[in-house]
Amino acid sequence: MSGKPLRALLIEDNPIHARLIEKLLEEVGSYDVALQTGGTLATGLEMLGRGEDFDVVLLDLVLPDSQEMDTYFRVRAAVPELPVLILSGIDDVTLASRAVEAGAQDYLVKTSLDAQTLGRSIRYAREITHAQRSEWNSPSFRLAQQQFLKAAELMSLDDNLRQRLLFPQRTQIVSFPFRRDNEQEVETVFGYRVQHVLSMGPTKGGIRYHPDVNLGETGALAMWMTWKCALMQLPFGGAKGGVRFDPTDFSRSELQRLTRRYTSEIIGMIGPDKDIPAPDMGTDEQTMAWIMDTYSQQVGYAVPAVVTGKPVVLGGSEGRSEATGRGLVYVVEEAARRLEIDLPQTTAVVQGFGNVGRNAARFFSELGVTVLGVSDVTGGIFNPRGLHLDDVIDYTRRHRFLEGYPEAEAVTNEELLELQCDILAPCALQGQIHGGNANQIQCRILAEGANGPTTLDADEILQDRGIYVLPDILANAGGVTVSYFEWVQDTQNYMWTLEQINERLRRILADAYERLAGRAENEGYDLRTAALVEGISRVREAKLARGLFP
Ligand code: GLU
Repeated sequence: MSGKPLRALLIEDNPIHARLIEKLLEEVGSYDVALQTGGTLATGLEMLGRGEDFDVVLLDLVLPDSQEMDTYFRVRAAVPELPVLILSGIDDVTLASRAVEAGAQDYLVKTSLDAQTLGRSIRYAREITHAQRSEWNSPSFRLAQQQFLKAAELMSLDDNLRQRLLFPQRTQIVSFPFRRDNEQEVETVFGYRVQHVLSMGPTKGGIRYHPDVNLGETGALAMWMTWKCALMQLPFGGAKGGVRFDPTDFSRSELQRLTRRYTSEIIGMIGPDKDIPAPDMGTDEQTMAWIMDTYSQQVGYAVPAVVTGKPVVLGGSEGRSEATGRGLVYVVEEAARRLEIDLPQTTAVVQGFGNVGRNAARFFSELGVTVLGVSDVTGGIFNPRGLHLDDVIDYTRRHRFLEGYPEAEAVTNEELLELQCDILAPCALQGQIHGGNANQIQCRILAEGANGPTTLDADEILQDRGIYVLPDILANAGGVTVSYFEWVQDTQNYMWTLEQINERLRRILADAYERLAGRAENEGYDLRTAALVEGISRVREAKLARGLFP
């Protein structure tokens, strides 16, 4: 794992054992560990109480000032959320397993420990703790639920429908192993697939590979997919999937093994008439090709329609890979027409330089918009005279990240969001515009390429300040719309040209924007509320028409 070292606290009184653990941790290899050691329970508790953030506690239960289960209970009371791994002697295993029964994540026998086992156990203990404590506890899920409840209130949604839509209909959590390239290490990761609404047709939504993925985040993204598909009047309910890991740390062959295993874990849930995955953050055309191949191998014939966002040669659609960025720019064009803004006179800033941000920036610049700044995980670049997009894209091809791009000033991601511009397009992670920075945002139009980039309190501030927000379920709906075209082409054996695709995409997005702008005007809503009410109304209508089984 790259990035910050993992912070471990070792509570162990035997200096020989402490030295052994320290040495093993140095050899872990796949990530760095910053270790601190306390020789008694009192020092250990004191270190935990200092407010330093530890990621894991390695605990010997028999200490000079505390014995056996009492040691465990006192540590647990001090850090109810933290993974605790018990370090046991060979003759203390019964005691160690009692601690595991009481809530410790695992135990390790000190005398037969090697670096690989220790490294893997620590990582897995953190995964288990996360799974046990914070699956639903995600800011994105709270945001998606709050947005839904606010819209439900305004439209006086029936209580029963409100309850049925507040949580996804189906969720699956899988934990599965895959082999690292060195052939010795096997890693276990957690994966998810969530289907929010099954009433509208098959479910649809991407698969995300990211270290923050959990059930709540996947559920939020699935819920947003439901409203997005309903708003675009596509015959799908919302779904989302993901695996919690950092794909930038893994080789292509490791990603392939992980993807194939994840696919076979969720294979019962997906299918061209059931649930159709697509790319999202951390996944791409290649990932979809592996999913399509794994699924096809299982059924014995090629099933292109099981995923969208595949390479064109496998039944992918022309224009799908850039559709989200293109759609965002189409929606901005519609808004500019309504607001009587001349786009070639405007400036834009784009946060995120993945598939969505990169393409949005490129299409803005093709329209004559001056793109002042863009950013990625390494930070932002800013040029008050405008960036030369082809040159920036070429630089990232050669250097992978934007960092070090010579023709611009370096800014942080936070500073980038606060730059003076006409159009700001957050196309990275959720929660980027919040109560703390909404007052510093300096744009006229905020076009949300990411899912959930704006928190509810920020939304209110932006509205008060008269910033025109094009909400995510409209602004980034180009991706799923072309996914729908891809699915239709696959199921009907059609082949549409890029012109046909783009022309239909523009029509669907322009129509959705007009409906929303009309509703917003008539009912005095902001565009997000109008979009949610529009999406929820369609799902309500479908659910009521189908009635209740049995
Ligand atoms: N992951 C994309 C989204 O959030 C696309 C989903 C799809 O094409 O099914 O909209």
